Amino acid sequence: MRTLRLATTNPNKVREVREILGEGDVRVEPLDLAGIPEPEETGTTFGANARLKALYYAAQAGGLVVSEDSGLEIDALGGEPGVHSARYLGAGATYPARFASLLQRLEAVPEPARTARFVCALAVAEGPRILFETRGTVEGRVAPAPAGDGGFGYDPIFYYPPFASTLAEAGSRKAAVSHRAEAVRALARWLRDLK
Ligand code: IMP
Repeated sequence: MRTLRLATTNPNKVREVREILGEGDVRVEPLDLAGIPEPEETGTTFGANARLKALYYAAQAGGLVVSEDSGLEIDALGGEPGVHSARYLGAGATYPARFASLLQRLEAVPEPARTARFVCALAVAEGPRILFETRGTVEGRVAPAPAGDGGFGYDPIFYYPPFASTLAEAGSRKAAVSHRAEAVRALARWLRDLK
């Protein structure tokens, strides 16, 4: 059985990846990040940050290290918050404050033009090499107001038309359609071909 070490401190992400990879012959473990300073995410794209983090952590741990960088792109805001999603309004800002700010900036933008997507770039490194990378997206719109208390992060303001609800209201159905699901399914295919 191969072990994939996921370089994240976010238990939601570990859970989502495990759910998608299922009971196959790959074990997903969080990489023990204790004592490892976080690298600066200097990339201007999700892909660049995923690669940078995968190489950084693979230099500290053996085996296959998976890193991901994800966030929300809002078209009417030129792609913001984008790679700054986790730091929008400052690293300590609450999500309700972030929602309020984004909704206020979108006040004059009509519903059909509030298009947005979640993006997940994922990279696998072993030692100094990137072995695999992929990118998943889920398309939707910024909701008129936050709704739902499931999921995490920006889910309450991400309206997903096929469900006629936000992803925070989607419950376990989110795992099948998310940007992370798409990226992790591509990872699963790559892992299968590796054997
Ligand atoms: P990262 O952990 O540095 O990649 O930052 C991800 C940022 O994008 C955080 O602000 C998350 O809240 C947001 N984000 C990523 N994936 C999701 C998701 O599935 N739902 C809601 N927010 C997400």
